[in-house]
Amino acid sequence: MQTFALFGDPVAHSISPRLHNKALRDLGLDALYTRVLLKDGSELMSKFRSLKLDGANVTVPHKEHALNLADVASPTATCAGSANTLVLKNDKIYAYNTDTLGFMRAIAPFGDIKTALIIGAGGTAKALAYVLQNNGVEVEILNRSKERIQNLSQNFNCFSWDEFRPKGYDLVVNSTSAGLKDDILCAPVEILLPVIKGSNFAFDVIYNRATPFLNLAQQHNLTCKNGADMLLFQAVFALNLFYDSSLDETKIEKSMREVFRL
Ligand code: NDP
Repeated sequence: MQTFALFGDPVAHSISPRLHNKALRDLGLDALYTRVLLKDGSELMSKFRSLKLDGANVTVPHKEHALNLADVASPTATCAGSANTLVLKNDKIYAYNTDTLGFMRAIAPFGDIKTALIIGAGGTAKALAYVLQNNGVEVEILNRSKERIQNLSQNFNCFSWDEFRPKGYDLVVNSTSAGLKDDILCAPVEILLPVIKGSNFAFDVIYNRATPFLNLAQQHNLTCKNGADMLLFQAVFALNLFYDSSLDETKIEKSMREVFRL
Protein backbone atom coordinates (compact mmCIF):
# COMPACT_ATOMS: atom_id res chain seq x y z
CA MET A 1 0.00 0.00 0.00
CA GLN A 2 1.22 3.51 -0.81
CA THR A 3 0.87 6.42 1.59
CA PHE A 4 0.45 10.11 0.78
CA ALA A 5 -0.12 13.11 3.04
CA LEU A 6 -0.84 16.80 3.16
CA PHE A 7 1.51 18.93 5.29
CA GLY A 8 0.46 22.38 6.49
CA ASP A 9 -0.53 24.56 9.41
CA PRO A 10 -3.49 24.52 9.58
CA VAL A 11 -4.55 21.36 7.71
CA ALA A 12 -7.81 20.38 9.39
CA HIS A 13 -9.96 22.46 6.98
CA SER A 14 -8.40 21.10 3.79
CA ILE A 15 -10.48 19.29 1.18
CA SER A 16 -7.36 17.57 -0.27
CA PRO A 17 -7.66 14.27 1.68
CA ARG A 18 -11.26 13.91 0.48
CA LEU A 19 -10.31 14.64 -3.14
CA HIS A 20 -7.40 12.22 -3.17
CA ASN A 21 -9.01 9.39 -1.19
CA LYS A 22 -12.08 9.53 -3.46
CA ALA A 23 -9.94 9.26 -6.60
CA LEU A 24 -7.69 6.56 -5.10
CA ARG A 25 -10.79 4.50 -4.32
CA ASP A 26 -12.50 5.12 -7.67
CA LEU A 27 -9.34 4.26 -9.62
CA GLY A 28 -8.85 1.07 -7.57
CA LEU A 29 -5.44 2.13 -6.22
CA ASP A 30 -4.13 0.53 -3.02
CA ALA A 31 -3.19 3.73 -1.18
CA LEU A 32 -4.34 6.22 1.42
CA TYR A 33 -3.93 9.97 1.79
CA THR A 34 -3.77 11.53 5.23
CA ARG A 35 -3.01 14.95 6.75
CA VAL A 36 -0.16 16.04 9.00
CA LEU A 37 -0.13 19.22 11.04
CA LEU A 38 3.42 20.54 10.73
CA LYS A 39 4.44 23.55 12.79
CA ASP A 40 8.10 23.75 11.81
CA GLY A 41 8.64 23.74 8.02
CA SER A 42 12.33 22.90 8.40
CA GLU A 43 11.18 19.42 9.52
CA LEU A 44 9.26 18.77 6.30
CA MET A 45 11.64 16.29 4.67
CA SER A 46 12.53 14.46 7.91
CA LYS A 47 8.79 13.98 8.58
CA PHE A 48 8.22 12.86 4.97
CA ARG A 49 10.92 10.22 5.38
CA SER A 50 10.06 9.12 8.91
CA LEU A 51 6.42 8.59 7.88
CA LYS A 52 7.70 6.56 4.89
CA LEU A 53 5.56 8.54 2.47
CA ASP A 54 5.52 7.97 -1.28
CA GLY A 55 4.27 11.46 -2.01
CA ALA A 56 2.86 14.56 -0.35
CA ASN A 57 1.17 17.86 -0.88
CA VAL A 58 2.30 20.95 0.98
CA THR A 59 0.15 23.91 1.87
CA VAL A 60 0.52 27.22 3.73
CA PRO A 61 3.00 28.14 5.21
CA HIS A 62 5.52 25.53 4.04
CA LYS A 63 5.53 25.75 0.23
CA GLU A 64 8.87 27.59 0.10
CA HIS A 65 10.46 25.03 2.43
CA ALA A 66 9.12 22.32 0.12
CA LEU A 67 11.01 23.83 -2.80
CA ASN A 68 14.19 24.65 -0.93
CA LEU A 69 14.55 21.38 0.99
CA ALA A 70 13.72 18.94 -1.83
CA ASP A 71 16.51 16.94 -3.48
CA VAL A 72 15.35 17.88 -7.00
CA ALA A 73 13.09 20.78 -8.01
CA SER A 74 11.11 20.92 -11.26
CA PRO A 75 11.66 23.98 -13.46
CA THR A 76 8.06 25.11 -12.83
CA ALA A 77 8.49 24.98 -9.06
CA THR A 78 11.84 26.76 -9.22
CA CYS A 79 10.30 29.49 -11.34
CA ALA A 80 7.26 29.82 -9.06
CA GLY A 81 9.49 30.00 -5.99
CA SER A 82 7.44 27.36 -4.17
CA ALA A 83 6.33 23.74 -4.37
CA ASN A 84 3.09 22.06 -3.34
CA THR A 85 3.82 18.49 -4.43
CA LEU A 86 6.59 16.13 -3.29
CA VAL A 87 7.27 12.73 -4.85
CA LEU A 88 9.70 10.03 -3.73
CA LYS A 89 11.60 8.50 -6.65
CA ASN A 90 14.73 6.34 -6.27
CA ASP A 91 15.10 7.57 -2.68
CA LYS A 92 15.15 11.22 -3.80
CA ILE A 93 12.39 13.73 -3.05
CA TYR A 94 11.26 15.67 -6.14
CA ALA A 95 9.36 18.98 -5.80
CA TYR A 96 6.69 20.22 -8.21
CA ASN A 97 4.26 23.12 -8.33
CA THR A 98 0.84 21.94 -9.49
CA ASP A 99 -0.92 25.12 -8.24
CA THR A 100 0.44 26.89 -11.31
CA LEU A 101 -0.51 24.03 -13.63
CA GLY A 102 -3.98 23.95 -12.06
CA PHE A 103 -4.35 27.69 -12.53
CA MET A 104 -3.38 27.53 -16.22
CA ARG A 105 -5.80 24.66 -16.76
CA ALA A 106 -8.56 26.58 -14.94
CA ILE A 107 -8.16 29.71 -17.11
CA ALA A 108 -7.81 27.74 -20.38
CA PRO A 109 -11.53 28.25 -21.25
CA PHE A 110 -10.90 32.03 -21.30
CA GLY A 111 -8.88 31.52 -24.51
CA ASP A 112 -5.99 33.71 -25.58
CA ILE A 113 -4.79 35.98 -22.74
CA LYS A 114 -2.16 38.57 -23.62
CA THR A 115 -2.25 40.91 -20.62
CA ALA A 116 -3.02 40.26 -16.96
CA LEU A 117 -3.16 42.14 -13.68
CA ILE A 118 -2.39 40.08 -10.59
CA ILE A 119 -3.75 41.63 -7.40
CA GLY A 120 -1.63 40.54 -4.44
CA ALA A 121 2.07 39.81 -4.03
CA GLY A 122 2.16 36.80 -1.68
CA GLY A 123 3.27 33.26 -2.48
CA THR A 124 0.34 32.48 -4.76
CA ALA A 125 0.57 35.78 -6.63
CA LYS A 126 4.27 35.23 -7.30
CA ALA A 127 3.70 31.70 -8.63
CA LEU A 128 0.83 32.82 -10.90
CA ALA A 129 2.74 35.85 -12.18
CA TYR A 130 5.68 33.66 -13.24
CA VAL A 131 3.58 30.97 -14.89
CA LEU A 132 1.61 33.58 -16.85
CA GLN A 133 4.81 35.33 -17.92
CA ASN A 134 6.32 31.99 -19.00
CA ASN A 135 3.23 31.49 -21.14
CA GLY A 136 3.82 34.78 -22.94
CA VAL A 137 1.42 36.95 -20.94
CA GLU A 138 2.40 40.53 -20.09
CA VAL A 139 1.88 40.70 -16.31
CA GLU A 140 1.46 43.64 -13.94
CA ILE A 141 1.15 43.33 -10.16
CA LEU A 142 -0.89 45.48 -7.78
CA ASN A 143 -0.48 45.09 -4.02
CA ARG A 144 -1.64 46.87 -0.87
CA SER A 145 1.81 47.14 0.73
CA LYS A 146 5.05 48.24 -0.92
CA GLU A 147 7.15 45.71 1.05
CA ARG A 148 6.03 42.58 -0.72
CA ILE A 149 6.39 43.92 -4.27
CA GLN A 150 10.08 44.74 -3.86
CA ASN A 151 11.30 41.24 -4.77
CA LEU A 152 8.96 41.03 -7.75
CA SER A 153 9.75 44.42 -9.25
CA GLN A 154 12.86 43.15 -11.08
CA ASN A 155 10.71 40.98 -13.31
CA PHE A 156 7.30 42.69 -13.35
CA ASN A 157 5.73 46.14 -13.41
CA CYS A 158 4.60 46.34 -9.78
CA PHE A 159 2.43 48.98 -8.14
CA SER A 160 1.18 49.72 -4.67
CA TRP A 161 -2.31 51.25 -4.44
CA ASP A 162 -1.10 54.87 -4.34
CA GLU A 163 1.17 54.47 -7.41
CA PHE A 164 -1.27 52.62 -9.66
CA ARG A 165 -2.93 54.20 -12.72
CA PRO A 166 -5.90 51.94 -13.53
CA LYS A 167 -6.30 50.51 -17.05
CA GLY A 168 -7.86 47.44 -18.64
CA TYR A 169 -6.44 43.91 -19.07
CA ASP A 170 -7.53 40.67 -20.72
CA LEU A 171 -7.49 39.01 -17.28
CA VAL A 172 -7.65 40.32 -13.70
CA VAL A 173 -6.77 37.89 -10.88
CA ASN A 174 -7.44 38.30 -7.18
CA SER A 175 -4.69 36.31 -5.49
CA THR A 176 -5.01 38.01 -2.10
CA SER A 177 -6.83 36.58 0.88
CA ALA A 178 -9.24 39.56 0.90
CA GLY A 179 -12.75 38.10 0.69
CA LEU A 180 -11.72 34.71 2.11
CA LYS A 181 -13.31 35.24 5.52
CA ASP A 182 -14.60 38.81 5.20
CA ASP A 183 -16.42 41.07 2.75
CA ILE A 184 -13.44 43.18 1.82
CA LEU A 185 -12.48 44.08 -1.76
CA CYS A 186 -8.89 43.26 -2.70
CA ALA A 187 -8.23 46.94 -3.59
CA PRO A 188 -10.18 50.18 -3.11
CA VAL A 189 -13.27 50.36 -5.32
CA GLU A 190 -12.05 53.52 -7.07
CA ILE A 191 -9.04 51.52 -8.29
CA LEU A 192 -10.89 48.30 -9.05
CA LEU A 193 -13.84 49.72 -10.91
CA PRO A 194 -11.93 51.22 -13.87
CA VAL A 195 -9.78 48.07 -14.04
CA ILE A 196 -12.84 45.84 -14.18
CA LYS A 197 -14.67 48.05 -16.67
CA GLY A 198 -11.70 47.82 -19.04
CA SER A 199 -11.09 44.06 -18.67
CA ASN A 200 -12.61 40.84 -20.05
CA PHE A 201 -12.03 38.01 -17.58
CA ALA A 202 -11.88 37.86 -13.77
CA PHE A 203 -10.44 35.00 -11.74
CA ASP A 204 -10.39 34.66 -7.95
CA VAL A 205 -8.12 32.09 -6.28
CA ILE A 206 -10.62 31.87 -3.40
CA TYR A 207 -12.86 28.90 -4.11
CA ASN A 208 -15.41 28.50 -1.34
CA ARG A 209 -17.50 31.66 -1.51
CA ALA A 210 -18.54 34.51 -3.79
CA THR A 211 -16.01 37.24 -3.00
CA PRO A 212 -16.72 40.99 -3.28
CA PHE A 213 -14.15 41.07 -6.13
CA LEU A 214 -15.98 38.44 -8.20
CA ASN A 215 -19.36 39.99 -7.38
CA LEU A 216 -18.15 43.36 -8.68
CA ALA A 217 -16.71 41.76 -11.82
CA GLN A 218 -19.96 39.85 -12.42
CA GLN A 219 -22.01 43.04 -12.05
CA HIS A 220 -19.94 44.50 -14.90
CA ASN A 221 -20.44 41.44 -17.13
CA LEU A 222 -16.94 40.04 -17.04
CA THR A 223 -16.60 36.30 -17.57
CA CYS A 224 -15.78 35.13 -14.04
CA LYS A 225 -14.32 32.06 -12.39
CA ASN A 226 -13.51 31.22 -8.79
CA GLY A 227 -10.58 29.08 -7.60
CA ALA A 228 -12.43 25.74 -7.46
CA ASP A 229 -11.06 24.43 -10.77
CA MET A 230 -7.55 25.57 -9.81
CA LEU A 231 -7.85 23.57 -6.60
CA LEU A 232 -9.33 20.60 -8.44
CA PHE A 233 -6.69 20.48 -11.17
CA GLN A 234 -3.72 20.99 -8.82
CA ALA A 235 -4.97 17.84 -7.06
CA VAL A 236 -5.51 15.96 -10.35
CA PHE A 237 -1.97 16.77 -11.52
CA ALA A 238 -0.46 16.00 -8.09
CA LEU A 239 -2.08 12.56 -7.92
CA ASN A 240 -0.83 11.73 -11.40
CA LEU A 241 2.70 12.81 -10.39
CA PHE A 242 2.49 10.46 -7.37
CA TYR A 243 2.06 7.65 -9.95
CA ASP A 244 4.78 8.85 -12.35
CA SER A 245 2.18 10.33 -14.74
CA SER A 246 0.74 6.87 -15.50
CA LEU A 247 -2.90 7.62 -14.56
CA ASP A 248 -5.82 8.80 -16.69
CA GLU A 249 -6.31 12.47 -15.69
CA THR A 250 -9.84 12.53 -17.12
CA LYS A 251 -10.81 9.74 -14.72
CA ILE A 252 -9.16 11.50 -11.76
CA GLU A 253 -10.93 14.75 -12.66
CA LYS A 254 -14.33 13.03 -12.91
CA SER A 255 -13.86 11.34 -9.55
CA MET A 256 -12.59 14.44 -7.71
CA ARG A 257 -15.26 16.68 -9.24
CA GLU A 258 -17.91 14.60 -7.48
CA VAL A 259 -16.44 15.67 -4.10
CA PHE A 260 -17.30 19.29 -4.91
CA ARG A 261 -20.91 18.26 -5.62
CA LEU A 262 -21.35 16.40 -2.30
P1 NDP B 1 0.05 35.27 1.37
O1 NDP B 1 -0.16 35.42 2.83
O2 NDP B 1 1.38 34.82 0.86
O3 NDP B 1 -0.29 36.68 0.65
C1 NDP B 1 -1.46 37.38 0.94
C2 NDP B 1 -1.61 38.56 -0.03
O4 NDP B 1 -2.91 39.08 0.17
C3 NDP B 1 -0.62 39.70 0.17
O5 NDP B 1 -0.29 40.27 -1.08
C4 NDP B 1 -1.44 40.69 1.02
O6 NDP B 1 -1.06 42.05 0.84
C5 NDP B 1 -2.81 40.48 0.43
N1 NDP B 1 -3.90 40.85 1.33
C6 NDP B 1 -4.28 40.23 2.47
N2 NDP B 1 -5.34 40.83 3.01
C7 NDP B 1 -5.65 41.87 2.18
C8 NDP B 1 -6.66 42.87 2.19
N3 NDP B 1 -7.57 42.93 3.16
N4 NDP B 1 -6.70 43.76 1.18
C9 NDP B 1 -5.79 43.69 0.17
N5 NDP B 1 -4.80 42.78 0.10
C10 NDP B 1 -4.74 41.88 1.11
O7 NDP B 1 -1.13 34.31 0.87
P2 NDP B 1 -1.10 33.21 -0.27
O8 NDP B 1 -0.52 33.79 -1.51
O9 NDP B 1 -0.52 31.95 0.27
O10 NDP B 1 -2.68 32.91 -0.47
C11 NDP B 1 -3.52 33.89 -1.05
C12 NDP B 1 -4.89 33.26 -1.34
O11 NDP B 1 -4.78 32.22 -2.30
C13 NDP B 1 -5.56 32.62 -0.12
O12 NDP B 1 -6.90 33.10 -0.07
C14 NDP B 1 -5.52 31.13 -0.43
O13 NDP B 1 -6.62 30.45 0.15
C15 NDP B 1 -5.62 31.14 -1.95
N6 NDP B 1 -5.12 29.93 -2.63
C16 NDP B 1 -5.97 29.24 -3.45
C17 NDP B 1 -5.52 28.11 -4.13
C18 NDP B 1 -6.46 27.34 -5.02
O14 NDP B 1 -6.13 26.23 -5.43
N7 NDP B 1 -7.62 27.87 -5.38
C19 NDP B 1 -4.14 27.61 -4.01
C20 NDP B 1 -3.32 28.44 -3.14
C21 NDP B 1 -3.81 29.55 -2.48
P3 NDP B 1 0.03 42.79 1.80
O15 NDP B 1 1.37 42.51 1.19
O16 NDP B 1 -0.35 44.21 1.72
O17 NDP B 1 -0.12 42.20 3.18
